[in-house]
This record gives sequence, C-alpha cells and structure tokens, in this order.
Amino acid sequence: MITTTNPATGETIATYETLDDNGIDAKLEAATRTYREWRTSPIEQRVELLSALGDLYESNKEELARLAVTEMGKPITQARGEVEKCASLFHYFAEAGPPMLESEFWELSDGGRAEGRWLPQGPVLAVMPWNFPFWQVVRFLAPTILAGNVGVLKHASIVQGVAHRMEELVLEAGGPEGLFQNLCVSSDPIGDVIADTRIVAATLTGSEGAGSAVAQQAGKHLKKVVLELGGSDPFVVMPSADLDQAVEDAVFARIQNNGQSCICGKRTIVHADIHDAFAEKFIAALKDVKLGDPMDDDTELGPLSSEGQRDTVLDQVATAKDEGCTLLFGGEKLDSEGAWMTAGLLTDVPLASETGTDEIFGPVGQIYKAKGIEEAITIANAIPFGLGSAVWTNDDEEREIFANRIEAGMTTFNAVNGSKIEAPFGGIKKSGFGRELSHHGLHEFMNLKTLVYP
Ligand code: NDP
Repeated sequence: MITTTNPATGETIATYETLDDNGIDAKLEAATRTYREWRTSPIEQRVELLSALGDLYESNKEELARLAVTEMGKPITQARGEVEKCASLFHYFAEAGPPMLESEFWELSDGGRAEGRWLPQGPVLAVMPWNFPFWQVVRFLAPTILAGNVGVLKHASIVQGVAHRMEELVLEAGGPEGLFQNLCVSSDPIGDVIADTRIVAATLTGSEGAGSAVAQQAGKHLKKVVLELGGSDPFVVMPSADLDQAVEDAVFARIQNNGQSCICGKRTIVHADIHDAFAEKFIAALKDVKLGDPMDDDTELGPLSSEGQRDTVLDQVATAKDEGCTLLFGGEKLDSEGAWMTAGLLTDVPLASETGTDEIFGPVGQIYKAKGIEEAITIANAIPFGLGSAVWTNDDEEREIFANRIEAGMTTFNAVNGSKIEAPFGGIKKSGFGRELSHHGLHEFMNLKTLVYP
C-alpha cells in the first residue's frame, strides 16, 4: 500500500494498492501491445492527441493544480503555472514537433545517397519525482507520444494521485490503452522493470542515489538512460546588475516551489563591491516572505513536500552550524502539524564542506562574497553538480566569460533560471546526462536509422 499525506496538515489523503508482479507484467504486456500499433500511427493522430491533452490540461487547470498542492504543498499560484506550462508543452510539440521527425539526407562519395530516419524504439520507463509532479512527467510524455514510443511511469510515491490522474487524462484525450501507464509501486521492483526485455530505455529525474541505482541497472542490461539529477545552482550578481531586480529574483529563485526545485538558485554569489548592499536587501526580503496555507493565492512559501524532506533540510542546517557556517536567520521547524519550516540563510560556508557541496532541497539559501569575476566563477563551479545557473550582469564581456566558464547545462542572464519549453534542458557533472525538451529531448529515445540507397 502507498499512502499519500497532505504536507500542510499531516492528514492522510488516500491509500493506493501497489501492483504485484502479475500487475506489473500486465502493464508491460499492454505497453508492448500498444507500441506495435502506435509506432506506425499517422503523425496526424499523434498531433491530435497532443493538442487534446494540451486542451484538457488547460480546461482542468484548477483541479489539477489543487491536486498537486494537496499532495506536495507547493503554492497554488505556482501549481497553476505548472499546469499551464504542461499545456503549452503539449501544444508546442503538436505544432513544432512534426518537422523534428523529418529525415536527414547525405550524398555519398560512392554516388549513393543515405537517409537518417527517426524511428521509435518501444516502451520507455520514466522514474519521476514529486517536486513538479505534472511538469517533470509531461516533459517525458509529450515527446514520447510524438516519437511513437509508449511510456510507463514510476512516479514518486507521495504523488500517486497525480500519477493516476495523468494516466486518466491520456485516455480522456483519446489515447489508446497502454500508451501511458502508471505503475503504482515503490522503488523496490524498479530494478526488475528495467531488466525486463519489454522496456527499451529509462529516464529518471530525482536524486543522485536514485539516478545511480537506475543507471547501474540500465548499464548492466545495456539500455540507454537519461538522468536529470540534483543541483546547487549558483546565482551570481555582478556590480552592473539591477540590484533591486536581482534581489527580488534571488528570493524567488530560492523559495520557489518551497525551495524544492532542482534548478533554483541555491547559492547566491555576490561581487564584493555590492555584497553588503545586496545582502541587506536580500535578508530583509527573505524574512518578509509570506509563509502560509499553500491553497491561498497570497502564499509565497508553503510546507515542504513531506515531514521527512523537512527533517532532511533541518539536519542539513544543523550540519552547516557544525561545519562553522553562520545561520543568519530562520531555517527552523514550525511548531504545527505538517512539514513546516521557515526560510533561512547561511553564510561563511566553506567551499569544500558538506554544506558547500550538497544540494539543500528546501528554503535555506547560502550567500557568498566574491572579490571579482574569477572568484565568482571558482565558487560557482565548486560543486559536484552542473545543472543550471543564473548570472546578473549588464556587461557584455563578463557575460561571455560566464557563458563559457560556468560548468552547467544552462546559464540564464538577468532572470530566474528555469526550463524553457522550446530549448534543451539537462545537466553535466553529477546533475546527470542527456537532454530533455526540443528535438534533442525528442530524439533521445529514438533510433536514427541510416538507410543507404546505392
Ligand atoms: P528520489 O530521487 O529518491 O525520488 C525520485 C524518484 O525516484 C521517485 O519516483 C522515487 O520513488 C524513485 N526512486 C528512489 N530510489 C530509487 C531506486 N533505488 N530505484 C528506482 N527508483 C527510485 O527523491 P526523494 O524524494 O527521496 O528526495 C531526496 C532528494 O532528491 C531531495 O532532497 C533532492 O535533493 C533530490 N531531488 C531532486 C529532484 C530534482 O528535480 N532534481 C527531485 C526530487 C528530489 P519513491 O518516491 O517511491 O521513493
């Protein structure tokens, strides 16, 4: 059984019966059966399904957003934004996707011609997290539908309501049975699912540990894997930046999704010339964040996704103090039911410490002072991760230096870093490998078959 809990109240929401071996087998059989049909389905049918899904996510926005809030506690305004982004991605792939499947051609030196044709490969397993419970899955689902593959979802246990609803929505939109199925299971049987010959590849978004377990099993069975893992993104502010805007965005970056976003700016690195002025405003704004009921439109910070996740962050704050970091304020448990804690800020963080190199997945930031651009880059890169990054500068030369030297899959200038529906997304170092979104994401699980015509 999997039980879901409202992290704002600690109350049980629902209990789900997990699949046994026969149940898993039936789902994999259905996936294989459907793939045989879907792989040759006309592109118009796939586009129609994507459009219908986009429409359904739009028309059910409020219900879906409230479901996400109930299961994992994000502020309702952000949950609505997440559902809207999902709808946009379905529509984007419906419109811009078909040309991405067009063949490439090469003239051969022996007088022949070669064609590179994009073909589907089969059922793909997606192991997904709770933090953006719709978006992380849709980022996989939309290209899967377009590619002619089929999807099997192992969603995070705490968002099983979302997982079930997403499965239903594909059917409501007219998708065939077996095209996208939720495996309601703990992570225990996932190794066997990856090993199963009916699964051709796997993608995972989540922690380093889960990523490593899935990658090892996929490697053992020689299956392709895409990993989108954690990050401890730098948010760099240089003297030419618009200070007030940078402060506002640094606060949002750190507390968005209740501090549980893989690509939010977790380490704020400020040039020494503006550090004190920035820090004063940043601290004031972070202390001012409105903590409250995540269903309330005015709430900026809700509970963490679970009491376990909250306790992990509290332990990280305790470790930070042991390591000599200074907790400037906050980072405390609230005396109420649910997974509540306050926002907080750490400074004096030694670069090589656990605190300096770990991902803090909650609303506790870190602020660093950098003497100049070289030191800013050194601090930015002093982590095992390389997912996103944000840099605030209006100096073109500086921009180029950061663009080339920050070790990350993405750098956003003068804005909060976030995935864009049209652009590739993914990390380097321990943040994983492979890309999602755009034609790069679409092609990850396709076979670029070379056809040679003499
Ligand atoms: P996990 O990485 O454990 O969970 C993500 C998904 O992986 C869930 O579906 C989970 O299932 C599954 N999973 C976990 N272990 C395995 C395994 N050995 N084999 C196969 N699947 C597995 O994240 P947590 O919820 O435990 O969060 C822990 C930390 O992970 C966070 O503090 C944060 O640092 C990081 N994280 C990063 C995310 C990101 O977006 N990059 C998202 C979520 C977490 P189940 O829920 O059943 O355990």
